[in-house]
Amino acid sequence: MSLPTLTERGTHREQREHVARLHSYLTRYELVTWTSGNVSERVPGEDLFVIKGSGVEYDDLTWEGVTVCDLDGNAVDGVKAPSSDTDAHAYVYRHMPEVNGQVHTHSPYATAWAARAEEIPCVLTAMADEFGGPIPVGPFALIGDDSIGRGIVETLTGSRSPAVLMQNHGVFTIGPSGKAAVKAAVMTEDVARTVHLSRQLGRPLPIDQADVDSLYARYQNVYGQR
Ligand SMILES: [Zn+2]
Repeated sequence: MSLPTLTERGTHREQREHVARLHSYLTRYELVTWTSGNVSERVPGEDLFVIKGSGVEYDDLTWEGVTVCDLDGNAVDGVKAPSSDTDAHAYVYRHMPEVNGQVHTHSPYATAWAARAEEIPCVLTAMADEFGGPIPVGPFALIGDDSIGRGIVETLTGSRSPAVLMQNHGVFTIGPSGKAAVKAAVMTEDVARTVHLSRQLGRPLPIDQADVDSLYARYQNVYGQR
């Protein structure tokens, strides 16, 4: 990762504004503390993505707090150094061409599962709908090289889940757009909390795999305004 070279300022302003606004979901649903957490989105048709600047406070986040990066994680436009998680996002964009948006949070209930390296079992129909099964755990990885990105890609390739709990760290989500990845991050925390509460009073009941499959197929193909 390098600092912006600022050869051309103010490019991709509309998408940077959009991504800045998407961050308001993270604060509204209380998924982030202080400056932690970030949203990124691939720039359509270019080998670029936009991501929150490092250490930018949410109340101050405008399009200028969102930095444009190439797929190696180098900043190519912006006034802020990109998020310290940029290398992980870049790795995922390089290796998962279907992914156009990513979110990272340390949302508390989901991260409590990550701290135990315990997957969230699929015991809610809403989870079968959104995740198609359990929310998996990825490996322990240190920031600073490709290991977080590699762990995300290895865990989510072939998985229905758009979310992974990286061990001892937090939540990374992927989606066909930035907003879809944000929704996955919100839903991850929601089900992490509900399943946690259920476990305080007993043992949540599993859902038969055939029912999980049918719920997932219905929700992904039929539900909503299409
Ligand atoms: Zn983190």
